Amino acid sequence: MKFTSTRSAQDFTSAAAITRGIAADGGLFVPCEFPQISYEELLKLADMDYIGRAKAVLKLYLTDYTEEELDFCVRGAYSNTFDKNIPAPLATVNGNTEMLELWHGPTCAFKDMALQLLPFLLVKAANKTVPGRTIVILVATSGDTGKAALAGFADVPNTRIVVFFPENGVSDMQKLQMITQTGNNVSVCGIKGNFDDAQSGVKKIFTDNAIRQQLEAKNMEFSSANSINFGRLVPQIVYYVSAACDLIKSGKLAAGDKFNVAVPTGNFGDILAAYYAKQMGIPIDKLICASNRNNVLSDFLATGVYDRNREFYTTSSPSMDILISSNLERMIYHAAGNDAELTARLMKDLAEKGRYELPKEVLEKLQSEFFGGYCDEEGTQKTILNLFKEYNYLADTHTAVAANVLEQYRKATDDDRLTVVASTASPYKFASAVLPALSNSAIPTDGFEQLQQLSALTNTPVPAPLAGLKGCEVLHKNCIEKDNMAEFVLNFLA
Ligand SMILES: *Cc1c(COP(=O)(O)O)cnc(C)c1O
Repeated sequence: MKFTSTRSAQDFTSAAAITRGIAADGGLFVPCEFPQISYEELLKLADMDYIGRAKAVLKLYLTDYTEEELDFCVRGAYSNTFDKNIPAPLATVNGNTEMLELWHGPTCAFKDMALQLLPFLLVKAANKTVPGRTIVILVATSGDTGKAALAGFADVPNTRIVVFFPENGVSDMQKLQMITQTGNNVSVCGIKGNFDDAQSGVKKIFTDNAIRQQLEAKNMEFSSANSINFGRLVPQIVYYVSAACDLIKSGKLAAGDKFNVAVPTGNFGDILAAYYAKQMGIPIDKLICASNRNNVLSDFLATGVYDRNREFYTTSSPSMDILISSNLERMIYHAAGNDAELTARLMKDLAEKGRYELPKEVLEKLQSEFFGGYCDEEGTQKTILNLFKEYNYLADTHTAVAANVLEQYRKATDDDRLTVVASTASPYKFASAVLPALSNSAIPTDGFEQLQQLSALTNTPVPAPLAGLKGCEVLHKNCIEKDNMAEFVLNFLA
C-alpha cells in the first residue's frame, strides 16, 4: 500500500506517512487505493474480538508493518484500557437506531479509540524511517484530542508532546483533564484564541522550514496527533467495521442489507473513517453529517460553497466548534476522483480567501454519499431530554446533535433504515450542559458536584477517570497569545 498527498503526487509508505503526519506540500496523506473486505471476510471478523478485527483492518493499510508489530501495537492499545475490554459496544436505542459508544476509554471521548493506538504506531514508524530521533507531537485541541493524546503519549520513550487548547473554548472537565496531566515529556498551554487559531498555529509550525531545521539539529522531528495524521484515521475505520460485525452477530444486519451512519462532525475525521469503511465494502448506505451551530459543513453539503467567513459560536458541543474542517480535504480529493490539482487549488482558495466552491460534479458525488444537517442549542437540549425520557439513553451534547440531525434526515427522506449513531463522549464530560436538559433544579457550580447530581438524577455511574480528577494538582498554568506558539514550543524543547 502506497500513500500520496492530496495536493500532489507522492510515494510514501504508511510508516513514513504516519511519522511525518502532514505532507511537505501542506496536503494530507491518503491511501492510493481502498483495500476490500468481502462479506465472507466480514463474517469471519464477526467471530473475533475487537483486537482481532483491528489487526485485520490495520494490516490492509499498514503493509510495511510486520504482523508481529501490528499485534504488539493493537494489544498495547486495547488490552485493559477500555471498560470490560470492549472498546466500541453498540447500545440499542430503538428498533432502527443503535449507538456506537466510543467513550469507554481512559479519557471518556472517542479520541481514545485512535489515540491509544497512535503512540504505538508512531514509535514503530519512527524506528523504521528516522531511527534514533525523538518525535515531537504538536496538538491543537478543541478539548478531547488534547487529553486523549496526552494519555496516549505520556512517558512514551523518545517522544515529547505539546498541547495547545483555546483557553475559553473547552469545558471545565476537559480543561481540568489536561492541566493536571503528569508525565516527564508533556507540556500543555492555553492560547488566547479559538480552536481554528490553535490549529492554524500548529500547521504553521509544522510547515516552517527554519523550525524544522532547528529540530533536526537536536535530532528531533515533528509529528501530528491530530486527525490529519493517517495513523489517527485508520483506527477509526476499525470501529465501523466492528459495528457491522456486531450487527451481523445480533441478527440485525442480514446478507445484502445496508445501514446508515450518523456522526457528530467537527474536523470530519470520524465521518471520513465511515466513508473509508464504506469504500472498503462495509455495507454502509447514507452518511449523515451532523453539525452544531457552527454549520459550515451543512451549508457546504447543500451548496458546494465552503465559506469560513462567518461568525464563530461557542456551543455546548465544543469539540465541534470548528470552522476549518481539515479532513474534508481528503474527502474532496476522493470525491473528485483523486484529483490533487483541483484539491490544491481549492485549499489555496481556502487559505487565501477563506472560501472555495466545488465543481458541480464533485458536489453531486458528495451529495449522493452524505446528508448534512445541523442542530442548535435548543435542539441539543431537547434531544438529550427526549433520548433519556423515551429510550432511557443518556447522551452527551455531541451525540445529541447527531441524533437530532438523524431525526431531521428521517423526516426529510422517509429513509428509516437501521442507523448507527456515533456516540462520541461520555455525558459526564459535559455534565454542565447535560444537566439543564434533564432537570430544572439549580446546577452546582462545582464540576464534581455536577457529576454527582447527574449520577443521582439518571442512576448511572460517574466514569472513574473523571471522578479520579478530584484533588489532582494543576501542573500546567501557561496561557499565551496565539502568535507566540512557536516560541513556546522551542522553549519547551530547549
Ligand atoms: C472530536 C469530537 C467530535 C468531532 O469529530 P471529528 O472527527 O473532528 O469530526 C465529536 N464529538 C466529540 C465528543 C469529539 O471529541
